[in-house]
Amino acid sequence: MNYLSTRGATASVDIDVALASGLAPDGGLYVPARLPRLDPGDFADCANLAAVAARVLRPFFAGSRLLADLDAICAEAYAFPAPLRPLAAGTQVLELFHGPTAAFKDYAARFLAASLARLRDTETPPTTVLVATSGDTGAAVAAAFHRRPGFRVVVLYPDGRVAPRQAHQLGSFGDNVHTLRVAGTFDDCQVLVKRALGDASLRQASVLTSANSISLGRWLPQMAYYAASALEHARRHGGTLNYVVPTGNLGNALACVLARLVGLPIGDIVLATNANRVLPDYFASGRYRPQPSIATLANAMDVGNPSNFERLRWLFADQPAPPAWLRADAVEDADIAATIGRTWREHALAACPHTATALCVLARLRAAGDTREWAVVATAHPAKFDSIVEPLVGAPVPAPAPLAAMLARPAQAEPMANDYDALRALLLALGG
Ligand SMILES: *Cc1c(COP(=O)(O)O)cnc(C)c1O
Repeated sequence: MNYLSTRGATASVDIDVALASGLAPDGGLYVPARLPRLDPGDFADCANLAAVAARVLRPFFAGSRLLADLDAICAEAYAFPAPLRPLAAGTQVLELFHGPTAAFKDYAARFLAASLARLRDTETPPTTVLVATSGDTGAAVAAAFHRRPGFRVVVLYPDGRVAPRQAHQLGSFGDNVHTLRVAGTFDDCQVLVKRALGDASLRQASVLTSANSISLGRWLPQMAYYAASALEHARRHGGTLNYVVPTGNLGNALACVLARLVGLPIGDIVLATNANRVLPDYFASGRYRPQPSIATLANAMDVGNPSNFERLRWLFADQPAPPAWLRADAVEDADIAATIGRTWREHALAACPHTATALCVLARLRAAGDTREWAVVATAHPAKFDSIVEPLVGAPVPAPAPLAAMLARPAQAEPMANDYDALRALLLALGG
């Protein structure tokens, strides 16, 4: 399988090159040159999530050095379940928060780490994985590379702008993980990382890579839990399953779209955003107008210019507009808070603020008379956002065991000015 850039100005590459390089040389995002076709029957003998993952990814890895290891990589990455839990008639919750950092990003971060570890030339100096995070990505990437020989991770997060438990988690790793709390915004952190990645003299001194959501190695593996849940639903109840996906940078949701396009039994897909409504506005008007991001209760989705938008355009480039089965709806903070309270009262379920955007969007569909089968995607465990969720439900939300273990460890993050020279000096001091 060959991969092209969304901007079309780069020669096609194989997946191993695309995985290791993140962004295409022309600044675009890598996309598969053609979409494979799978049939639900192809998955008949897949006994668990890891097996479904390997089956759905296999055609995308045709010709890869990783193909022979794909089963082992998926067994490593998908070592914890992604259960579909019934919530109400016709409604299930797809729980993606059973990994080490209690958010869905664990699956793909672990897949990327397992892949890069196998692609790494052991003769070269350690690879530095640079990540800017608004909260969840940094922890998932740090956990996936923690104590992995040949890698170190440098995480930059905006000081004071992540949830307290997110901050603790980010600083709890130590060893080969260096956590920097930057006096600036998430956008500032991203600018610093981009500058380092584009700094030719720095790159001469060290092997640098990134692990943000535009990486192909994070996009593709997210198909696995959509494939597994849709197949499970089809086996039990017949027919297709519709999804509401909390959306920020459009990585996770476009994996659901991709799973549908390659032939999995998925029906409608609705993107739930917070008050950052660039996607709902695009679907309504056909015009894409990036905005500065605004801070909301669902902070991992505070995105005004979704980094995967080019992939959305590319997927439907031959059509005048995205298909009718794909839509978007925005949820203001007041509705996020009301939904968390209502879901607790009606179903005794504590939802994280991101998951609540999807629950709210589904409640609107139900109110308009939709009686079809829907899965609401739960992107993080509510205990990660206890300072928001507990006051709204009026009860303690216990942390799951892996999160509790991380919170019990001491945490340390180095303060850093919003200053590129400071980052550069630190990277050089780490030994290139
Ligand atoms: C990252 C994140 C999202 C948004 O996912 P995208 O792939 O950026 O659309 C939603 N919820 C949580 C909890 C997240 O960490």
